[in-house]
Amino acid sequence: MTDTSLRIAGILQSASHVIALTGAGMSTESGIPDFRSASGVWQKVDPMEVASLGVFMSDPARYWGFHRPRVDMLTGVEPNDGHRALAELERRGILAAVITQNIDRLHTKAGSREVIEVHGSLDRGVCLRCDARVSLDELLARADAAEDGVPRCTGCGFQMKSGVVMFGEPLPEDAIQAAYDHAMKADVVLVAGSSLAVTPVNQIPGMVVDRGGTLIILTESETPYDRLAAVRGHGRLGTELPAIVAALDAEG
Ligand SMILES: [Zn+2]
Repeated sequence: MTDTSLRIAGILQSASHVIALTGAGMSTESGIPDFRSASGVWQKVDPMEVASLGVFMSDPARYWGFHRPRVDMLTGVEPNDGHRALAELERRGILAAVITQNIDRLHTKAGSREVIEVHGSLDRGVCLRCDARVSLDELLARADAAEDGVPRCTGCGFQMKSGVVMFGEPLPEDAIQAAYDHAMKADVVLVAGSSLAVTPVNQIPGMVVDRGGTLIILTESETPYDRLAAVRGHGRLGTELPAIVAALDAEG
């Protein structure tokens, strides 16, 4: 247990609606690289060239050529102790929801139930023309069967995308609305592994603080909201988040 974890445990114990907001830093300990970091993929490759709605529409083989190895890597990863600690907080009735920028499904794999994926999820395939949906397994089977590696819709023949939101594509409205609904109810927001650089998640800390709520930030890098945080930690989430659970146990 650390001083930070004890302070956070104290805050959580007297809160009525706690939400967690997680980003790429949550999954780096599971071996998933942060594409936005200083050494990340997006420093070397322009996402608009490989991962955008534009390239998906005009050159789907290029989109899938970039996306497929990433999907294959992500399907093999496992949650870490940080994911498991958040799931435990939800089981104990302390955490109401996890709002995540991650598309890796690791919160769900770790046992979290109320998971709001604002950047979509790897879990499915989607046809942008007729809105048909298929499972990830089915999507990958179709990609494997295609000569160009592009999965296609059996209904309308159009190329299919994964459920991950592409650059230039609108975010899923239902997820954004659910995130804002939680933010309007929350009296504590725990940011874990997000640098709060991307809309809409970067709106949420301000929404909670403006209504008198408490902001906790556990993120390695600086964020624009650091000065508003009641607790600001920089440690490894696979250690820090279980330490909060341990602190709650110690306080009984
Ligand atoms: Zn279709």
